[in-house]
Amino acid sequence: MSLYKKNSLKLYNSLSKEKEVFTPINEGSVGMYVCGPTVYSNVHLGNVRTFMSFDLVFRYLKHLGYKVRYVRNITDAGHLENDADVGEDRIAKKARIEEIEPMEVVQRYTVDFHQILQKFNNLPPSIEPTATGHIVEQLEIIKDILDKGMAYVVNGSVYFDVLKYNESEEYGILSGRNIEDSIHNTRALDGQSEKKNPQDFALWKKASPEHIMRWPSPWSDGFPGWHLECTAMSTKYLGEKFDIHGGGMDLKFPHHECEIAQANCSNGTDPVNYWMHANMLTLNGQKMAKSTGNNILPGEIFSGDNNVLDKPFSPSVTRFFMLQAHYRSNLDFSSAALEASEKGYNKLFQGLTVLEGLRTSKSTSVDIEKWVQSCYDAMNDDFNSPILIANLFEGVKFIHLINDGKETISKEDLERFGSVLKSFVFDVLGLVDEATEDNSEKLSGTVELLIKLRKEARDDKNWALSDQIRDELLALGIQLKDGKEGTSFTVN
Ligand SMILES: [Zn+2]
Repeated sequence: MSLYKKNSLKLYNSLSKEKEVFTPINEGSVGMYVCGPTVYSNVHLGNVRTFMSFDLVFRYLKHLGYKVRYVRNITDAGHLENDADVGEDRIAKKARIEEIEPMEVVQRYTVDFHQILQKFNNLPPSIEPTATGHIVEQLEIIKDILDKGMAYVVNGSVYFDVLKYNESEEYGILSGRNIEDSIHNTRALDGQSEKKNPQDFALWKKASPEHIMRWPSPWSDGFPGWHLECTAMSTKYLGEKFDIHGGGMDLKFPHHECEIAQANCSNGTDPVNYWMHANMLTLNGQKMAKSTGNNILPGEIFSGDNNVLDKPFSPSVTRFFMLQAHYRSNLDFSSAALEASEKGYNKLFQGLTVLEGLRTSKSTSVDIEKWVQSCYDAMNDDFNSPILIANLFEGVKFIHLINDGKETISKEDLERFGSVLKSFVFDVLGLVDEATEDNSEKLSGTVELLIKLRKEARDDKNWALSDQIRDELLALGIQLKDGKEGTSFTVN
């Protein structure tokens, strides 16, 4: 029986503002969309936390046996400096300042984004579509919304008519803002606003002559509004109605509110059953901002090259630190808090080392199944990773008590306990045993050195030494293979 049948997963739905039992549209399958990054600068640590939160969701759903299609987009056009549909395109601006092509900006920061997320051991999504790769789909949605009379064209730009939409549907349903407050602040910023009402938002913007990133459309050469790409890509790959839509808390309004309105208008249905929002990360109690210097890049954590840190911290320790907070709680990043997490992380992995050498008995004196259930209960309660981690430490406590002879465990129970503990540590939390990783690097370095010495021995016709190196390595389970390209090795 699949684990999801035994576990009633509840998650907090930002739409209903309640924890709800998770029931996917198609049994056994989950469609999840998460708003990805705008690739115009190095990935922000706060964004890393958001993507890690949804990596935890993705991992746990997979662990429960669901077939998950996880779609996370790359915004490579259309995201203006200001959410009010004015200002320069963020990518085009960076390209202008750095005197490179916009697509060079996109390439550079997409690579950075992937590398950093991989360092933190986030799994790649199933599909990672780009906005520029889905212009045709976005044009179709605009035509559809225009046909339904919910948008209007002004000077080659197309705007969504929020007030008209609000006559039959509810704009502000997710963020809880009423229509008067839902102003996209355009008037204050742009006296020449083309919009009928300040609540309206752009579906298509006519490009100014200097704007490089532009596509032809029936209305003008221009580019799509930022909110539109997510509607186009989520419904294309997950269907008109799908299970989970996630993103950072800051995207609730206006971005997600606009997504709901666009999809409702185009497809006649609310697009998402469960909306999930991950909370923010502060640094030493304050909002992170480049301008005040209260800022740290993910890479600087690993090098320790930032004044806010007393020392460097590894990606896995940082991941552990982030998962020690619930995804809906605010989390404050500081050197002291990371040091405390590092101690906890080491304690957990020391426990796993002791586990490998535990002796078994005829009977078990601890309630393994109760402990297993407590781990699942934590995750079933809206992915409560801090409670899960507390339970894993209970598991470590068992390990030491068994090791000290104060508790006993049977062979069968040890197998069950060990496999559940490891699957939560490695598969669900996505932690990595850095000591083992370190050791494997050291091992390959050592073998490479011996291969070099053996080659020198052979060059000197010292066959006895060369054979001794080969045979003794083989006795240790390391087999050398001589080939045209040199000597390689395999570890058994
Ligand atoms: Zn989005």
